[in-house]
Amino acid sequence: MHVLKFGGSSVGSPERIKSVIDILDGYQKKKIEFTVVFSAFSGVTDSLIRMAQAAAKGDDQYLDLWSAFHKRHLDTIQALVPDATAKTAILKSFSEMSGTLKNLLQGTFLVMEASPRTMDYVLSFGERASCMIIKEAMNAHGLVAEYIDAREIIKTDKNFGSARVDFNLTYKLIRSAFKSNKKIKVVTGFISSAKGGLTTTLGRGGSDYTASLLAAGIHADAIEIWTDVDGVLTADPRLVKNAFTIPKLSYIEAMEMSHFGAKVIYPPT
Ligand code: ASP
Ligand code: MG
Repeated sequence: MHVLKFGGSSVGSPERIKSVIDILDGYQKKKIEFTVVFSAFSGVTDSLIRMAQAAAKGDDQYLDLWSAFHKRHLDTIQALVPDATAKTAILKSFSEMSGTLKNLLQGTFLVMEASPRTMDYVLSFGERASCMIIKEAMNAHGLVAEYIDAREIIKTDKNFGSARVDFNLTYKLIRSAFKSNKKIKVVTGFISSAKGGLTTTLGRGGSDYTASLLAAGIHADAIEIWTDVDGVLTADPRLVKNAFTIPKLSYIEAMEMSHFGAKVIYPPT
């Protein structure tokens, strides 16, 4: 089993999602079993933060931001789910989810505060929406997939915004979720929950960590973190033109790099 992770920029538009589905199709053709973790569409986590912050200030601009969120996801469904019945179903379930977000933001607007606990719940809509939609797009393409909300399997403390994982419980839940059936599991990155069910998050960039937790829990053969650059480079290629790919990196080196700020992997990963 391989655990694959695709970040926000890899799923930032219907075209990018189609390319990801082509990659996944290649794995299926080669009969490599895989599970896939997705982040929210690019920019969505930031815009969810802005929505909640605007609402908490009593600024009704949160409604425009919410409308943009809603529309972007509806447009993605239109572009990726051709079958009428499947499309109606996913439009309905996404709209329900998005309606819950709108109500939550309205609550925040009325009480004029967004606690870290509320923030984590608001942020969870990004990964839930992307995974729900991409799973449907995969099905439309003949990749038989099921959606898994990581809050059911990744358990943490209540350190909202950057929760610490309860490894024993998490690995146990992961293993039992992976026993179930042969469908390709599409798992939400970044989000988790505390015992009792409150939504938590693993910290910004945390989808990498979700993938590594799954891989460790099921003793996967490999974890693959797909991104828009090839491997780990010697420097940020946006800043350093002649940056090149490092052929091999030890865990210690990778850990050191990420702790010193390289965005390519999230430190706890
Ligand atoms: N969507 C989250 C973030 O923007 C998690 C991730 O992308 O890894 O931080
Ligand atoms: Mg990242």
